[in-house]
Amino acid sequence: MKKKEIQKKYNEKIKLINKYNAYYYEKSNPIVNDQVYDNLKKEILQLEINYNFLKSENSPSKVVGYKPSKNFKKSFHKVPMLSLGNAFSEEDLDNFEKKIKNFLSLKDKNEIYYNAEPKIDGISASLTYKKGKFYKGLSRGDGKEGEDITENLATIRDIPKAISFKDFPDEIDIRGEVFIQNSDFKNLNDKFANPRNAASGSLRQKNPSDTQKIPLKFIAYTFGYEKGLLVENQSDFINKLNKWGFKTNPLNKLISGVKNLIENYNEIEKKRANLDFDIDGIVYKVNDFAMQKRLGNVANAPRWAIAHKFSSSKAISKILDIEIQVGRTGALTPVAKIKAITIGGVVVSNATLHNEDEINRKDIRIGDTAVIERAGDVIPHILSVDINKRLKNSKKFIFPENCPSCGSKTIKEFNKITKKIDAVRRCSSEGYNCDKISIEKLKHFVSKEAFNIDGFGKKIVENFWKLKFIKFPHDIFKLDYTKIEKLEGWGKLSVQNLKYSINQKKNISLERLIYSLGIRHIGLENAKLLSKHFMSFSKFKSLSKKSDYEEMLNIDGIGETQVNSIKSFFSNEANLKVLNELEKVLVVKNAIQNSNDGLLKNKTFLVTGKLNGISRAEVKSLIEENSGKTVSSVSKKLNYLIIGDKPTKKKIDNAKQLKINVIDQAEFLKMLNKTS
Ligand code: NAD
Repeated sequence: MKKKEIQKKYNEKIKLINKYNAYYYEKSNPIVNDQVYDNLKKEILQLEINYNFLKSENSPSKVVGYKPSKNFKKSFHKVPMLSLGNAFSEEDLDNFEKKIKNFLSLKDKNEIYYNAEPKIDGISASLTYKKGKFYKGLSRGDGKEGEDITENLATIRDIPKAISFKDFPDEIDIRGEVFIQNSDFKNLNDKFANPRNAASGSLRQKNPSDTQKIPLKFIAYTFGYEKGLLVENQSDFINKLNKWGFKTNPLNKLISGVKNLIENYNEIEKKRANLDFDIDGIVYKVNDFAMQKRLGNVANAPRWAIAHKFSSSKAISKILDIEIQVGRTGALTPVAKIKAITIGGVVVSNATLHNEDEINRKDIRIGDTAVIERAGDVIPHILSVDINKRLKNSKKFIFPENCPSCGSKTIKEFNKITKKIDAVRRCSSEGYNCDKISIEKLKHFVSKEAFNIDGFGKKIVENFWKLKFIKFPHDIFKLDYTKIEKLEGWGKLSVQNLKYSINQKKNISLERLIYSLGIRHIGLENAKLLSKHFMSFSKFKSLSKKSDYEEMLNIDGIGETQVNSIKSFFSNEANLKVLNELEKVLVVKNAIQNSNDGLLKNKTFLVTGKLNGISRAEVKSLIEENSGKTVSSVSKKLNYLIIGDKPTKKKIDNAKQLKINVIDQAEFLKMLNKTS
């Protein structure tokens, strides 16, 4: 790669990490999880190691946190508040100790004592005391300058307002972590993704009386500026903090030797799920203050301390229960309910167990201690269980033979293609006889690719179901709006909006309707093929003869599996009733035979960003109806890139480079002689 390109790539990454920092530190509302953030940070640091011409004032190797918010008065820290270096492995810890010994010219056999302090995942604050009185409180900000949040901090009970001990220094900045206990976090509304963000958001409220409403806690662990502190090491300092009336972490421990640090780390990691506060690692601090002084700091962190982080994709917790969920197609999916734990900034309390075979293979049981993985955006799952920690009376998990929702027998099908019995067990009841299947069918019916009813989400389906407002899809079009208006959380305007969205969707294309029915094995593409085959709803609806099914096999893309599934759908009385009722309330547009000579003949399109009022699926069918084609990436084969809201910049740049026409929604519609 050329120097210029490397520089460009580096600058882009710096810009991105700055954006992440702004959302995390200033808005307390991160837009990516910690794993994504940490990976980006690693990439930047690695680039700086590989190419020494790369430098930036905004690099994570230089900066601490984020500049103070404009919402608060700013104030300088007399002694900067730094970040911490990170360690992820035993090797990292060995290197950390080696560097310290080299720096201090110590021999290998010289033992160094560390105060190992579980790292509470909250936000740090610096409390200045003058003559024993709480005088000022600042957030870390960018390390040099913090936000003056004195009044907000004063609302926290754990923070002593006056200290009268003789050995309490004349002036001192006591530093520690403000956090929210997990049990208190559970009782907050779901505005925040995790306790850390909740603590940060609550502490930095403009109005201190809003902060007071949140049960924030404070644990002290270090100091900044001091005048008259007579202590020689960190563990004695922690003892003093206790005496002076501060809360300290009960799990702090004085340890020497990397092996012992690792042992303590493993023990704490196992205890983590049972603590009432989130920890994301353990901080090791050289205990001796004289040594700390000699070691000093690097750009943004002390040389004498390091944070040994827990993995941001895995954690250990306990399986409290195993629940069997029933999906739209009757598939039974076991889900482990686990003791809530934060993994990479996200609170996880459910982990999928995939299917019965997976439970048997890993011998997963209720009460087990398990390793849970949450990698990327994949649903959290159980990696393994610790058999040594299993209780004596633990019992093998028996997968239910009957559907937990309707009691019907469950079956495992034989897959003709793989010639194997399916791993998935299914409820054998069809259609709307099983409550759980029905609810899932309704959720599918209103979903984005199906009827796409604005404001009619999964939660509303569940709520309306419970209230017996809906049981079948057609009930959605016959809602009693006066009843909804009386419900908590609904007002005249929101009911009006809902009514409008529902009425708007009464006009529907045949392919969308077929897809919405949620027939097993009939996804978007197959629904399109079927709609082209039947052309009208009445033809599709009156499907019954043997010859009809045989004919379907001639459709390119439709096989025996799909036909059998459609057959079983039509053999169910409830489904037939739904079709009849839907016919009464909907206007189903006949399929359009794609002309080969439409307005977009021989033209290819790609959409980037969100279009106004038209979904991706709708644009695709519009293009196809007019003899055009859609492609999946920018290449020489593309003729038009349609840009919507928040497009991918890279796609636009590539398109411009290839001299491809970049058009907006209005220009696209103009090509079809339409206006938006
Ligand atoms: P850090 O969390 O790695 O370490 C420094 C902090 O540790 C201190 O400021 C203090 O608040 C805390 N701490 C807790 N207990 C302590 C103790 N006993 N002694 C000393 N300090 C203690 O540093 P950071 O730079 O604030 O944050 C980096 C972390 O934040 C990473 O884990 C990163 O993933 C996350 N982050 C995430 C995003 C995102 O968008 N998801 C953005 C920024 C940062």
